[in-house]
Amino acid sequence: MRVLIGGGTGFIGQHLGHLLQENGYRVTVISRVIRPDGVTWNDIQRHGLPKDCTSVVNIAGENILNVSKRWNDSFKEQVKKSRVETNKLLAKAISEAENPPESFINISGVAYYKPSETDEYTEESTGGDYDWLSKLTTEWEAAATLPDSMNVRRVTVRSGVVLGQDGGMIQQIYFPFFLGFGGRMGTGKQWFPWIHVDDIAGILAYAVKNKSVSGILNGVAPEAATNAQFASAFAGAMWRRALIPMPSFVFNTVFGNERAKIILEGQKVIPKRTLECGYKYKYPDLQSACRDLSSFFGRF
Ligand code: NDP
Repeated sequence: MRVLIGGGTGFIGQHLGHLLQENGYRVTVISRVIRPDGVTWNDIQRHGLPKDCTSVVNIAGENILNVSKRWNDSFKEQVKKSRVETNKLLAKAISEAENPPESFINISGVAYYKPSETDEYTEESTGGDYDWLSKLTTEWEAAATLPDSMNVRRVTVRSGVVLGQDGGMIQQIYFPFFLGFGGRMGTGKQWFPWIHVDDIAGILAYAVKNKSVSGILNGVAPEAATNAQFASAFAGAMWRRALIPMPSFVFNTVFGNERAKIILEGQKVIPKRTLECGYKYKYPDLQSACRDLSSFFGRF
C-alpha cells in the first residue's frame, strides 16, 4: 500500500508521512529535488505515477508567509503555480494511469470563506470568490478535478492555521510568548481558525484509510477561538500573560496588506462534515492543544 505525497517533505507532509508509516503504508514523497525516498515532479511529468499507488495526496505549496519574499506579482504567481500546477499534473497522471489509485486527496485553505466576525461557515457554505486568496483556493481545488468517468475517490481538506512545535506559526511566536512578550495580533477580535498538526495529518490519513470519506472536509478544530483567545490560551499554557499586542501595521508592513489578511482577518469555520464522517480529534480544544504546543522539552 503505497501513498504518494506531493510536498511530503514539508511541515504537514512529514507528520503525515510518519502517521501513514505507523499505519502500515509505504510513503513516497514528490519533491522538487532528488531524494532517496522519493520522486521529482519531473519524474511524474515524464513517466506518470509510480506503480502500485493506493492513494495520491497533494500538499505542495510555496510558503505564503515567507517573510524573505516580497508580496509582488512574481511571488504571487509562484504561490499559485506551486499549488495549481502540481494538482493539475497529478490529476493528469492519475487519469492516464494504467492502474489508477483508489483516492486523490488535496489540501486547500479556509481563505475560501469570506472573513467575518459574525458569520459561521461549514463545508456547505459558499465562497471562493472574495479576494485574491479566496480565488486562489477555488483554482487550487478545481485543478484537482478528475474526469467524471474515473472511479477515484476525491477529498479536499480546507485547512485552518496549522499549529505544531516543529513548523508553521508556532515556530515564529514561541520565544516572544515564552519571554512574556506575546499578545493578540491586530484587534484580536478576528476568528482564528486553528488546527493541531497531528489533527491535520490525522484527517488526511483518515481520508486515505476510509473509503466512505469523500468531498470537502474543513480541517479546523471543533473549538473555535478568536485570535485574542488563542493568544491568551497559548501564553497561559506557559504561565505567562498575553499582554503585549502586535498592532496591525506591523503585519501590514512585514507581509503587505493582502497577505497580512491571513493573520489580521479570520473566519469562524465549523468542521461539520469532518465530525460527521467520524474523525476523532486528538486536540479538539485550545487548552489541550496549547498544553502540547507550549512544552519546552517537546521541542527537542
Ligand atoms: P511547507 O512550506 O512546510 O511545505 C510545503 C511543501 O511544498 C514543501 O515540502 C516543498 O517541497 C513543496 N513546495 C514548496 N514550494 C514549492 C514550489 N514552488 N513548487 C512545488 N512544490 C513546492 O508547508 P506546510 O507543510 O505548512 O503546508 C503544506 C500545504 O498546506 C501548503 O500548500 C499550504 O498552503 C497548505 N496549508 C498550510 C497551512 C499551515 O498553517 N501550515 C494552513 C492552510 C493550508 P520540496 O521543497 O521538497 O519541493
